[in-house]
Amino acid sequence: MIVQQIVFIVLLLATAFCFTKRIAFIRGNILSGRAEKLNDQPARRWKYMALYALGQKKMFKRIVPAVFHFMIYSGFIIINLEIAEIMLDGILGTHRLFVSVLGPGLYGTFISIFEVLAVLVILACLVFLARRWVLRLKRFFGREMTRWPKLDATLILVIETVLMTFFLSMNTADSLLQDMGYGHYHEAGFFLVSDSLKTLFSSLDAGTLVFIERFGWWAHIVGVFAFTIYITYSKHLHIFLAFPNAWYTRFKSSGKISNMPEVAREVKAMFDPSYQPEENAATPDRFGAKDVTDLSWKSIMDAYSCTECGRCTSECPANLTGKLLSPRKIMMDTRDRSDELGYFIKKSGGEKKEDGKSLLHDYISMEELDACTTCQACVEACPVSISPLDIIIELRRYLAMEESKVPSEWALMFGNIENNGAPWQFSPSDRLNWKDEA
Ligand code: SF4
Ligand code: SF4
Repeated sequence: MIVQQIVFIVLLLATAFCFTKRIAFIRGNILSGRAEKLNDQPARRWKYMALYALGQKKMFKRIVPAVFHFMIYSGFIIINLEIAEIMLDGILGTHRLFVSVLGPGLYGTFISIFEVLAVLVILACLVFLARRWVLRLKRFFGREMTRWPKLDATLILVIETVLMTFFLSMNTADSLLQDMGYGHYHEAGFFLVSDSLKTLFSSLDAGTLVFIERFGWWAHIVGVFAFTIYITYSKHLHIFLAFPNAWYTRFKSSGKISNMPEVAREVKAMFDPSYQPEENAATPDRFGAKDVTDLSWKSIMDAYSCTECGRCTSECPANLTGKLLSPRKIMMDTRDRSDELGYFIKKSGGEKKEDGKSLLHDYISMEELDACTTCQACVEACPVSISPLDIIIELRRYLAMEESKVPSEWALMFGNIENNGAPWQFSPSDRLNWKDEA
């Protein structure tokens, strides 16, 4: 037993190390963005998080996927309570430690609830796999859904199904061993699902059952450890990040595009000679965003929270009319670029330098940005409180203000506003000519 305990503790520490390292890396990438204050109204923020992250309010706009998603989500959270017992058993070398605390009756009730949830998780995973690969729903495909994102989405459903199967087979073998009174397999109560699966293993001898139980136990926990690390490289990071991402949501009114304070200052000074800019008002190194570090930290956290569900793209009028723009791609590109830059900085010993690439142009093209109508449909559709539009606007601002790259119609309009104080090509002195013609 002592060897098993040592192996378990080594695996646990290795998992904790890899997980913490990767989370620290992602945190560093998020914090490399521009500062933005988003911690006002804490009570409203807790309420928003409870409704939109815990309660998944936006998911329920589409009831069928919402119900199946809720099955996986609640199953994932509640069944993981079982992990607490597995951890303690692994460290202390005990077997079903909580039976001695709860008694077989209550313990069996908890395990029965976990087992029913495990069956629901398997069912929901199979439905999601069928939606993806049999029904081939359009929003799961698209230009940005290359090999890895598709594999990632499939892998996660398969892994969850396999983990739940190990959990059920472990309990079934354990239950039979309890009936035999074999070794340390003491009475642990009635297990609703695995007790009804006993006939599958009833012809097996005790040695084989012990093998199945031990294999199920180790495979389940090693799978959970591997899954914990894998999640941090996967779109499934949203399991964790959906919560802070909802808490730090921007409470601006729908459709409001924030001013750039540094530009607003200039305009105010032009229109009002008595205007005094506030003290310490700094001019930024760059107007808008060329790379991820020019974006707000919230936009980078948005990118790491994206589930790649494609709801935004499926509602985007630009995408629906065949344009190159896909708001999901904007988020995936931002995350991938953040990772790339983060690795580069890490390799350079943590020194903040440029690697000669940028989010704009290397990942996201002008053609994509120009296609956006700023309609907000993507923001409204996103179940994880993400705004692809905020990133699009910042990139566009850089294009317009730093590279003067705008569609020719816009350039004409900008020139007119600058020279004539209006978007039209008329001199301000002709503004009242209409009354003479009337
Ligand atoms: S705001 Fe832009 S990206 Fe979002 S749905 Fe509208 S057109 Fe598409
Ligand atoms: S931005 Fe939101 S809606 Fe779009 S793919 Fe990501 S999670 Fe889904």
